[in-house]
Amino acid sequence: MADCIFCKIIAGDIPAKKVYEDDAFIAFHDINPAAPTHLLIVPKKHIETLADCTADDEALLGKMMSLAPKLALEHGARALPEGGMRVVMNVGPDGGQEVYHIHLHVLAGERPWRGFA
Ligand code: 5GP
Repeated sequence: MADCIFCKIIAGDIPAKKVYEDDAFIAFHDINPAAPTHLLIVPKKHIETLADCTADDEALLGKMMSLAPKLALEHGARALPEGGMRVVMNVGPDGGQEVYHIHLHVLAGERPWRGFA
């Protein structure tokens, strides 16, 4: 999508601190981190919101979830039982979504964190 900021990051047209890439996903550090580790896991397929996903996207969504603990542990999350992470997807205006290309927030690291709405 021409005017989608995450599509531009996927295309390499704007820079990001990339931590992971495969044929279906990219993951990078959030530009305005709300925790010591704040990653965004972004499918390369442009889907505006979680509510726009169909049964065809179930495998993609499952892979996105399974990437979260792996990438968190590689980038600052402390292991359980002391550590852990928060995994969040904002959906639509009431969910506080700002970028309309689905993405998973992965927040981790020792607290306190600043607020994350
Ligand atoms: P949302 O509210 O849509 O779930 O979250 C969008 C997130 O994308 C925000 O946490 C924001 O800081 C992050 N973000 C927005 N633009 C950019 C950008 O150009 N680069 C990076 N790395 N993160 C961005």
